[in-house]
Order: sequence, then structure tokens, then C-alpha cells
Amino acid sequence: MDSPTPTSSTTLPPIPWKPPEPASARCGRRSTVWGCGREQHESAAVRQAQDYDAVIVGSGAAGGMCAYVLACSGLRVLMLEAGRDYDPVTETPMFQTPADAPLRGAGTPEKPFGFYDATVDGGWQVPGEPYASAPGTDFRWWRARMLGGRTNHWGRISLRMGEYDFKPRSRDGLGADWPMEYDDLAPYYDKTEALIGVYGSNEGLENTPNSSPGVLLPPPAPRAEEMLAQARCRELGIPVIPAHLAILTRRLDAARISRELWPNNATARRVTEESMNRRAACYYATPCGRGCSIRANFQSPTVLIPPALATGNLDVITDAMVREVTVGPDGRADGVHYVDKTTGLDERATGRTVILAASACETARILLNSKSGLFPDGLANGSGLVGKYVMDTVGAGVGGQIPALENMPPHNADGASAMHVYMPWWLYGEQAAGRLDFARGYHIEFGGGRKMPGFGFMGGLAGFTDGAYGRRFKEECRRYYGSFIRFDGRGEMIPNEDSYCEIDPDGVDQWGIPTLRFHWKWSDHELNQARHMQRTFASVIEAMGGRVTSSVHDDGARAIAAPGVIIHEVGGARMGADPSESVVNEFCQSWEVDNLFVTDGACFVSNADKNPTLSIMAVAWRASEYIASEMTARSIR
Ligand SMILES: Cc1cc2nc3c(=O)[nH]c(=O)nc-3n(C[C@H](O)[C@H](O)[C@H](O)COP(=O)(O)OP(=O)(O)OC[C@H]3O[C@@H](n4cnc5c(N)ncnc54)[C@H](O)[C@@H]3O)c2cc1C
Ligand code: SF4
Repeated sequence: MDSPTPTSSTTLPPIPWKPPEPASARCGRRSTVWGCGREQHESAAVRQAQDYDAVIVGSGAAGGMCAYVLACSGLRVLMLEAGRDYDPVTETPMFQTPADAPLRGAGTPEKPFGFYDATVDGGWQVPGEPYASAPGTDFRWWRARMLGGRTNHWGRISLRMGEYDFKPRSRDGLGADWPMEYDDLAPYYDKTEALIGVYGSNEGLENTPNSSPGVLLPPPAPRAEEMLAQARCRELGIPVIPAHLAILTRRLDAARISRELWPNNATARRVTEESMNRRAACYYATPCGRGCSIRANFQSPTVLIPPALATGNLDVITDAMVREVTVGPDGRADGVHYVDKTTGLDERATGRTVILAASACETARILLNSKSGLFPDGLANGSGLVGKYVMDTVGAGVGGQIPALENMPPHNADGASAMHVYMPWWLYGEQAAGRLDFARGYHIEFGGGRKMPGFGFMGGLAGFTDGAYGRRFKEECRRYYGSFIRFDGRGEMIPNEDSYCEIDPDGVDQWGIPTLRFHWKWSDHELNQARHMQRTFASVIEAMGGRVTSSVHDDGARAIAAPGVIIHEVGGARMGADPSESVVNEFCQSWEVDNLFVTDGACFVSNADKNPTLSIMAVAWRASEYIASEMTARSIR
């Protein structure tokens, strides 16, 4: 795993750069909430005077990765995060039981995923930060206002996109191709997986790439219900293989990995190794969505931000809501305006590059709100494509009850806090032969089994127990505990012109910043795919000898989850090889403003069935390496 120099056929404009002053010279005069020492506060005037190489907006998967790579590369970095400071190590309610929580931990409008979910100041609604859907659209937008964003409570399913996924238009004429190949990103997948820790296996299946040897951690053994599904799916011709999740099944080999990631950079090697050594292996006891105090799962504030801070090159300001990117008279980005949420004052931060990593739609919003005489339609929007071609994942699910799993002897099936196995898309041949009524594919995730009982546990059992109550009902609960299973499809949506976000002419948030309005339209490809998912899941449940307990719709519009609900929204500032058809190039660099970068999911050209976050981080690493090498090259010149 060398650190390859980015290669590109694109001729790119230079980014002016000065060599960084030593980190030690800057410590102690920082203005941030935290930097090389936490809790240091200085005035906004000092903050503006800082001379940053890069201002990063957002601290989640994309922002955290950019901060890590750039700070390790010796650049002076300022990270601005709209949410509050958050430390999973001290704040995580890992060991409370549902019985300790109000309503037994049930979800509420403020905490949709339950009382203990790590989300701070977020969910489908964020107080004071509304958004709108155009008539006929019901888009749901999940946000988390906290250091690390949604990496604190995401599912941690980490699948690579395959070679087909980068060239979808070339395969079937729909959507658009990425300006890079799988091979361009493969080294960064390796690096990202090695750094964050991903368990899984190499199966050599079509469009389901292997990792390089020594990168993946061993997967946990399948659970009882997973083994049963595996056996029955074999008869149906559906592969069931170890899932890939960003959870440490064993401690990372910190010395080896940091050496391989940073062969020629002693500081980066040291901070990476020290940070990795503070991570323990998972002991399979607690739900990851609450955050992990032993740093066994991947979260930006435990894995990316600490080593970046340890370089002395990163400052972080939390409670900093960025309103717009500012440009100088030369049309180049020179910083951002943000609202200090603790004072309500408008502040300014300056830097030689600006990197937007605020999450796909929020990044589009910032670009569209960055209007000036030079850029009246928003920044980087000469193609008119900012906000366009937003995609989510196609989702549909079916549950069932499996008699073969009843009355199992007591056993602990907690395991890693999600599935141990999954089904990658397997019908490429059928599709190529024209035997499916939709393009692209889906993979299957599944849940169920003997999880810790929470709110609603055994709800709906009456339909199975024929009016039992008292002692007999308890016996029925023991009988059925662990016998329910659920399959969820995660499929590719093809980008279309009718799915986009724009500035709502009537909406502003609590700081007066214009808000977004969403438009959405599924095509028949997505609707037919959702119908296919439900039929497949029903047939798997029946093959397991089970009974389907949820509706299976003939109408795909009834099967498919509402847009945004799968929380895999990407697009809105897509990359491409042609400036008239894209917003950024393959290194996430804006065509119009050469020192402005978009490194989150906004730059996605397609949204393969593979959950996007691993790819977001790999793309962000590649872009960051490009930024660092471009700056270094100019300083040598
Ligand atoms: C419950 C759940 C489960 C998920 N499961 C998976 C999964 O299993 N696999 C997968 O691949 N993906 C999953 N995802 C999606 C995943 O979380 C996102 O794809 C990923 O976090 C996106 O990274 P990001 O850096 O773009 O955004 P985020 O992680 O959301 O980070 C963006 C950050 O920017 C900050 N910000 C936003 N606007 C501003 C502003 N104006 N100024 C300053 N800061 C700002 C936000 O507060 C936030 O902290 C899941 C998401 C959720 C909620
Ligand atoms: S299951 Fe493992 S990785 Fe997840 S929170 Fe618990 S200890 Fe951490």
C-alpha cells in the first residue's frame, strides 16, 4: 500500500501554496474550540488572521478523511463543524439496557432510532433547520449536528463499488460514467479499509471487488439464522457471503499498517500508529449505533480526527454553521462565512483552498447560496448542475417467521452490531440477457435473530399464539424469540433530471440562511427493482420454511421506501470529464473555481447498490492526496 502519486490526463490550474510554518509555532494562538490542546478559546479576530492551507466544512466521513490526509501531509487545516463537540469515548451509553431508558428506549420524533442512538441534534428533522418538498415529493433528509456527523451512528456496512459501477452508461446507456475507473480508486479503498478497519472476505464474485491481501479483518462466524439462510439461498442460486463492516474483529496491526500507509512520512506514521493502538477489538456486547467508547467501530471522532489533531496541523471549530463560500476579485475561493451558533455572530475563516464535505445536499446548498456578482447562480454552477441528479438508494423489505428457528436453546447471538453475512447482487447474467425489467442491481441485507429485547419486543405475536396469555404467553414468547427475520434490499437508482434540490424561494433557517426544496421522481427501473426485491425476499423466506409476515406488493410504488429514507443520498455536484456536464473533475476540484473542492457524496456520478460511505472516504482520500501533491509541486516550482 504505497502512497501513489495521483495521475490524470486532465490539465489542471495551479494552486498557489506556501510551505507550512511548524505546528509548534501555531499552538497556543489558535482560536478554535479545540486544536492541539482542547478547550482553547480566542477571539474571532484571531481566527480570521490564521493562515490555513485548507478550510474543510464538515467533520463526518468526507471531512474527517480530508482532515486526516491533509494534516498528515503537513498542510495547515481548519475544520468547521455545524454541530457540537462530541466525544464517543466519554459520551457513549454503551452499557445501558432498554429498561433503563424512558419508553424502554423507543424511537421518538427527536430520536427516531431510539433513546440511546448516538445522533445529537439531528434526525429527519433538525430544530431550526427546515427543508421543503415540492408538491408530489416526500423527500426525507437525515442530518446529525455533531462532530463526526452521521459516522457516529451509521450502520458501518462498507462495500466497494465494482468496475461496472464506475461505467454504468457504457454498460447499459443509462445515467453517466464516472471520470475514473475502479482501478483508480482501488488503492484508496485499500488504504481506507486498512485505516478504519473493515471485516469481510474476498470471494472473487462479479463486480464485488476483492481487497488487497492483508487489508480485511476476519469476519465473525455466521449466526444461526444466517447459516439457515445461507443453506437455503444456495439452493436458490443466491450467494450469501461475509458482510463487510467497519468494526474491528481483532486489534489492528498498527505498526505495519501505518508503515504501509505512510512509508515516507514519519509524523503521519507516528500519529496513525498511536491512534490505532488506542483502539480495542469489538467484544460483541453493545449496539454500535450508540457509538463505541473502546473505538472498535469506525467513527470520524475516534479514528480520523484524533490522529489529524495529533499532527498539530488541524484546528477544529464546532458550532460553526457555514453559510457560503466567499470569493476574491479574482474569482477564486478565499474562505467561508459562518454563523457562530454560540454567539449568533457572522464570522469569517480564510484559507487557500476550501473543501466542502458537509454531506451531499448540504454541500449543494452552500454552493447555491454562495452568490456573488461573479457567480450570480451560485458557485461552481456554470453548468447549472449544482443540486441536480440527487440520488438515494432503492429500498424495500420483507419480514418473516421461521419455524425452524423456534425454541432454540438459549444462546448469545449479539455478535457485531449488524449482519455477519449478506447477499451481493447475483443476476448480472439474467440482466444482460434482457430477462429483468429493470437496469442495475441490489444487494440484500438482513436482520433478526436473538437480539436484546427492546421496545415493541414480541409485538404482533398475538397473530401466532391464538389468544394465549399469562404463563402460556410467556412460553410462546420463549418459543418465538429469535425466529423472526427480515430482508432489506439496497439497490441502485439511476440519476434523473427530475430528482434534484434547489434553494427554496420561501424558506430560511433560524439564521436566515436559505433552505432547500427537494424534487423527486422514481423511474420504472427503481419501481420494478423494488417489486423484484420483495418477491425475492418472500421466496427466500418460503425456502427457509417460513411464513411471510409483511406485505409483498405487485405495485413497485408501494414496495419502495420514500426517497431519502435509506439515508444514502448522493449527487448534487457530480464529477465528470466534461465541464459542461459536471461540477467537479475526478479529483473533486471545481471546474470553475480551481481551489474549491467537493469531497462528499455530492460528487457521485452514480449510486451503485453498494452503501456509499466507504466510497466517499476513498474518493476523499484520493482528492486530498491530489490537493496535497498539487500544493507541494507549486512550492517546489
Ligand atoms: C442510521 C444510519 C445508518 C447508515 N448506515 C450506513 C451504512 O451502513 N453504510 C453506509 O455506507 N452508509 C450508511 N449511512 C450513511 C452515512 O452515514 C453517510 O453516507 C455518511 O455519513 C456521509 O458522510 P458525509 O461526510 O458526507 O456526511 P456526514 O457524515 O453527515 O457529515 C457531514 C457533517 O457536516 C456538518 N455540516 C453540515 N452542514 C454544515 C454547514 N453548513 N457548516 C458546517 N458544517 C456542516 C454536519 O453537521 C455533519 O457533521 C447511514 C446513515 C444513517 C443515519
Ligand atoms: S458492538 Fe463492538 S464495535 Fe459496536 S459498539 Fe459494541 S464494542 Fe463497539
